[in-house]
This record gives sequence, C-alpha cells and structure tokens, in this order.
Amino acid sequence: MKTLRLFFLFTLVSLIALSASYAQKRPNIHILATGGTIAGAGTSTTGTAYTPGQVAISELIAAVPELNEIANITGEQIVRIGSQDMSDEVWLKLAHYLNTLLKRQDVDGVVITHGTDTMEETAFFLNLTVKSNKPIVLVGAMRASTSLSADGPLNLYNAVVTASATESTGRGVLIVMNGLILGAHSAMKMNTIDVQTFQAPNSGALGYVFNGKVHYNQTTDKLHTMQSVFDVTNIETLPKVGIIYSYSNVESDALEALINKGYEGIVHAGVGNGNIHKNLFGKLADASRQGILIVRSSRVPTGPTTLGAEIDDSEYGFIASQELNPQKSRILLMLALTKTKNYKTIQTYFNNY
Ligand code: ASP
Repeated sequence: MKTLRLFFLFTLVSLIALSASYAQKRPNIHILATGGTIAGAGTSTTGTAYTPGQVAISELIAAVPELNEIANITGEQIVRIGSQDMSDEVWLKLAHYLNTLLKRQDVDGVVITHGTDTMEETAFFLNLTVKSNKPIVLVGAMRASTSLSADGPLNLYNAVVTASATESTGRGVLIVMNGLILGAHSAMKMNTIDVQTFQAPNSGALGYVFNGKVHYNQTTDKLHTMQSVFDVTNIETLPKVGIIYSYSNVESDALEALINKGYEGIVHAGVGNGNIHKNLFGKLADASRQGILIVRSSRVPTGPTTLGAEIDDSEYGFIASQELNPQKSRILLMLALTKTKNYKTIQTYFNNY
C-alpha cells in the first residue's frame, strides 16, 4: 500500500514537473493592442455599423483560449483608436517601446492588434525603425468582434502562431490577415470591405498559416529592422511630409498650401508611372530647387514608379518611389529626412527599402 502511494506521488510530481517544463518551452508572446475593428463592437451581428477599439485586450485574449496552447500570452493596451486616427506620435511610442521590449529575454515575439485602414503604414514604419530579429506581427479584422463570422479570433490565433514560429525570425515586420503572411514593404489594403483585403500585388505573400503552422515561400530582399539605417531612439517628432494627389485638371492650390506651410518633403501621387500634370510640374520643380524633397510615386496600385522614364528626374532633383505607394513613400521620406537632404542618397533608400 505504501509503495503504491509513493508511486502515485512520484507520478504526480513528474507530471507537474513535465507540464511546467512544457509551459516554459512555449514562447512568450506579448500582445500590444491599439484598437481597430478587431476590437470593434456593434449592436447588430449582421449590420456593418460599429465603433472600432471598444473591446479591451484582456477580452480579446480571453475570447481565444486556444492562444494559451501555443504560447504564454501577455497583453497590454497602448492606445484604443480606429487606425484612421493613427499618428506619428503613436508610431514613435510603439517603436521606442518595441526597441526596449524585444531586448528582453522573456519576450520572444510581439503581436500588435491594429485597425486595417493604416496597418500597412504602421507595419512599414516599424519595419524601418525597430532593431530586432524577433517576430513582430500586425493583425486586425474586417468584421467587428460582435459580427456574425467575425474574422478577428482566427486572425489573432494565426498572428500568435506566426509570432511563435522560429521560421518567422529575421523576416522584418509581418502582417497576418486571413491566413496570409505578408511583408511590411509590399503589403497593401486592397479592398474596403472584404476579409481577403491584404495582398502584396507586386511581389506576393511571404507565406501562409494553416492549421496552426506557418509555411513560408519566400523572403524579401528589401532592407528592414536590423539592416535599417534609421534610428528613432532620440527622435520625438518627425519631419513634415505631405502627399499631393493628381488627377485631370488638377490645380496647384493643395500643393501651394504644403509649400507655404513649410513641409520639408512632398510625395506626389502621380498618374501612370508617376507622371505630373503641367499645372503642378513647375511648382514641384521650384519647390525642389528651394530644398523641399520631392518623391514621385503613383496612384496606380501596382508596378514601380521608375527613375527617369517620362521625366528626367536628375534635372529636377526628383526621387522615384520604386514600388512604394504614396503612403509608404511618405514614411520613408520622413525617416530619410532625419538623416539627410541629399536627393541622391534618398534615392538609394527608395531603391533598397
Ligand atoms: N477603421 C478601422 C480601423 O482601421 C477599420 C478596420 O480596422 O478594419 O481602425
């Protein structure tokens, strides 16, 4: 009888030790919440009206208990906004915090819950300013948490799977939405309402998540995180850079407003391969001569804006955005301006990042 009791006691102790060591082996994933539709709440399960950023991170985590099977989860609310209200201030706060957080031994990866509207911008900003090889994954949802068939819970699960996977190390900041893993350089929101909204039309997804496992098909050659020359450690505000959108018959009022307001850089969302209407051309050339940095990007969603096609960029000191859309060009130009005003150096950033 005594031997039997001892046997049970030994088995119990072994099981506890085993489960403790199993728990320790699971990666520690910290979730930073910023709001968005993934935390949105509405009054109807079938309607589209809702308010983003209503649900606290603790509730989002509690709604997906499966997360605890893959990682030791902790969470923290950073802001609670619709990402249409995203700001340089929040970006800098996130970058500063991530640079401290990811140095910690007890943090193996970070997931950021975020609205989808500006997710590609935040991902790209962090891709250039966070110095870590550890996985950083942005995730959101197209349907509010109160919707029928809300996409947030599975997206969050897939994001934690991706942040927990050793295969995700050193790939730069990632976006995980609707099963796809996308790189920050190329990910774009392509549809206003569809759950399959994030795509990388110029280069394709890096991989996908299926049944709790990541599958990667490619890596990016674009520079990011550890290779990035941009350092925001001591930066509290970013240079002012605005975007001018082009269309037939465009007039120069909006452009003149940016010039008169002292913007240091202007991104031109041009037509075709970044072409510029004659009503804007002279003003942009003058602005460039005055020392305002001008990046030619395009309102066309795919394909690069190439150097010296219909416009002789070297004559005007213009910079071609390559594959970066206007909103990402703005981010790279802001960061570039923290280092230099030389348009040739800035062109090399646009070629490489
Ligand atoms: N307006 C929302 C946001 O970006 C949309 C979403 O999250 O899907 O915060």
